[in-house]
Amino acid sequence: MPLMNGLTLALSKGRILEESLPMLEAIGIAPAGDIDRLLRVPSQRADVSLVMIRPADVPTYVEHGAADLGIVGKDVLMEHQFDQGGSELYEPLDIGIAQCRMSVAAVRGYVAPRGRRLRIATKYPEIARRFYAARGEQVEIIKLYGSMELAPLVGLADQIVDLVATGNTLRANGLVEIEKICDISSRLVVNKASMKMKHAAIQALIDAFRAADASRNRS
Ligand code: AMP
Repeated sequence: MPLMNGLTLALSKGRILEESLPMLEAIGIAPAGDIDRLLRVPSQRADVSLVMIRPADVPTYVEHGAADLGIVGKDVLMEHQFDQGGSELYEPLDIGIAQCRMSVAAVRGYVAPRGRRLRIATKYPEIARRFYAARGEQVEIIKLYGSMELAPLVGLADQIVDLVATGNTLRANGLVEIEKICDISSRLVVNKASMKMKHAAIQALIDAFRAADASRNRS
């Protein structure tokens, strides 16, 4: 259970965790334990504890109050909200880390197939479905859990919907970005009940994140 008199912050393992460490350090809540092994570690502050979880699970932990706050990519948050038909979370702050974009990509020289639906491989079926539906295209969505870039190369899909940062992964695999769907960055999310019950402590943490983001942008 989360701390009664303290705060539990859920961190997305991987890229977001790595990129958020300098910010956690600046705020004084960096992990004070082995984040490679432990799933739950104390922070530098006695009243803030950290849990390390898969990005896709962060909204669920925070919605259920197992963590008071979380740091999660907008990609994961949107997919979760579309999938659940809404969400029980506050999203008070864009903390500006792990910036990238969600885009449609295909093999270089790609020509759309005739006489059948487009096949789209993605980790984000709900985002993709809405994107194509909004332009009146009926597509077949193929849900994958990783290495989306492979799908068009082996004939599994015509296009992919995935995150692009530098574009190096697409280029290395002979793919090109066809269209940007939206910009993505990491967000601070807050459990609604925690926001009421622990308002002062949570507001102070939101302010600290905002200040750390502002000072990083200045430097
Ligand atoms: P890049 O080669 O820099 O364009 O990065 C693309 C690869 O990294 C793809 O496999 C993406 O799924 C992944 N990626 C890029 N940005 C992020 C991010 N902010 N969070 C998670 N995965 C990302």
